Amino acid sequence: MPLVSMRQLLDEAAKGGYGVGAFNVNDMEQIQAIMEAAKETQSPVIIQASRGARQFAQDRYLFHLILAASELYPEIPIAMHQDHGNSFETCKSAIELGFTSVMMDGSLKADGKTPSTFEENVEVTRKVVDFAHERGITVEGEIGVLGGVEDGHGAGGSGLDHITDPDQAVEFAERTGVDALAIAIGTSHGAYKFTKKPDGSVLKMDVLIAIHKRLPNTHLVMHGSSSVPKDLQDIVNQYGGKLKETWGVPVEEIQLGIRNGVRKINVDTDNRLAITGAIRKVLWESPEKFDPRDYMKPAREAMQKVVAQRMTQFGQAGHAGDYKPVSIEQIAKGYKDGSLTTRPLVAAK
Ligand SMILES: [Zn+2]
Repeated sequence: MPLVSMRQLLDEAAKGGYGVGAFNVNDMEQIQAIMEAAKETQSPVIIQASRGARQFAQDRYLFHLILAASELYPEIPIAMHQDHGNSFETCKSAIELGFTSVMMDGSLKADGKTPSTFEENVEVTRKVVDFAHERGITVEGEIGVLGGVEDGHGAGGSGLDHITDPDQAVEFAERTGVDALAIAIGTSHGAYKFTKKPDGSVLKMDVLIAIHKRLPNTHLVMHGSSSVPKDLQDIVNQYGGKLKETWGVPVEEIQLGIRNGVRKINVDTDNRLAITGAIRKVLWESPEKFDPRDYMKPAREAMQKVVAQRMTQFGQAGHAGDYKPVSIEQIAKGYKDGSLTTRPLVAAK
């Protein structure tokens, strides 16, 4: 199957009332793990690459690996997404490379660290939307600022510093025409999200629900949404790791989000933990081994297990065959003639 538009994937998810996991990749084994999990659960899937991943793997390798996935799994709809584009140029280069979706994270300035103003965010996001939609490419924007830092990207600090204001979310969606909207509700990037199991004082699901009430048809995105399960932390630590105790976003909170407009859920840390735990275990138990396949194979299997579990929990499992892919050219026409609306439905307060 050719790579599909993320907009189509999320529109279908909204029709079906489920969420779609967006899993980060840096190398071949991670892509293989995701695709095997998608095949196993018959899930449509979003594969995403950060700027750090594009640098690590190099653009051409990454693009051809994902292209290989689309050839090997013709029954699986795959959207290829730029995670946290920091500027118009980053998004443009991703689109020119063949990504079918980009995130313009204008909540931060181009340095990827300093929070921007609302007007700056609107301006750069609108510019990306104009360029992308003309080419049939999906755009995710961000309003409010996530906590933490990942791949050198992020404002740092607590996830509570810049919670999304629902009125601003409405204005942002109206003025930019984004297809999907990432919001800040207290989550952070990286493994260290919460110091205890999160409750409503640190994980603002009420803000998410308020935004969904105002923007009932807008696809919401949860970032920093690994669950950081204790069993994955324990495997790392059991075999010589030194992770500090930490809590992620409980799956039941993500499922509450999915019932309230969340269509894309970003997961990276859980897969990193699964891979590292599996590698540590092999090297700890069999220090004589030196063939990378001896630990990369279990690592890939461990990630596949986590991804398949999330696909089932998010509800995307079983939906791979629901629809035929619409070509990117057709999507571009849809934006042009208005059949793919970019004017959000706004409900009264
Ligand atoms: Zn993110």
